[in-house]
Amino acid sequence: TSSGRLDGFSSENVEATDSKNLRVKLVLLGDSGVGKSCIVLRFVRGQFDPSSKVTVGASFLSQTVALQDSTTVKFEIWDTAGQERYAALAPLYYRGAAVAVVVYDITNPQSFNKAQYWVKELQKHGSPDIVLALVGNKADLQEKREVSIEDGMNHAEKNGMFFIETSAKTADNINQLFEVHLWYLFFSFLRPEH
Ligand code: GDP
Repeated sequence: TSSGRLDGFSSENVEATDSKNLRVKLVLLGDSGVGKSCIVLRFVRGQFDPSSKVTVGASFLSQTVALQDSTTVKFEIWDTAGQERYAALAPLYYRGAAVAVVVYDITNPQSFNKAQYWVKELQKHGSPDIVLALVGNKADLQEKREVSIEDGMNHAEKNGMFFIETSAKTADNINQLFEVHLWYLFFSFLRPEH
């Protein structure tokens, strides 16, 4: 696999520019206000800026992460920028995504319901080998919590998803959220014998 697309895991959705450099499209889905933009900003820039809107229209940010053996994974991170309101556009948005991160706000049960809707939608219309993650954000707001860890975990487990609670505000688990996918990719087809 010196160029072009890799065989094996997510062959449709992970592109290798060469054997050491992979490109992964990652999309975020979830209700408006759950913190998708803040999660991306925290990961890419290491900042929390509640007032900044990074994404306007169909733009994305990218972040390259180095693994051992000088392998790099470039995440192309797509934020819906409010387009989640237009359900008809969604399939265009997550087409070709290797990873879909469905985000809800742990203080907002309605956003958890919406997350469950997105999971179904992705299972129905997403690529069959898409990797799904369920993320309960705003974990710093424990006193306002309305969705229990167990509810999040159970839903993820039932649907074969990764689960993690994050805080874009305090940076808790933000790197871990992205790293978990790196390790998954690594063990799936970046292993030397592959
Ligand atoms: P998006 O519409 O899903 O992209 O949500 P934003 O990233 O624009 O965030 C919506 C609001 O939630 C903003 O006012 C943020 O300051 C706030 N927010 C985002 N993440 C967190 C978090 O982890 N903790 C807290 N307390 N607030 C957050």
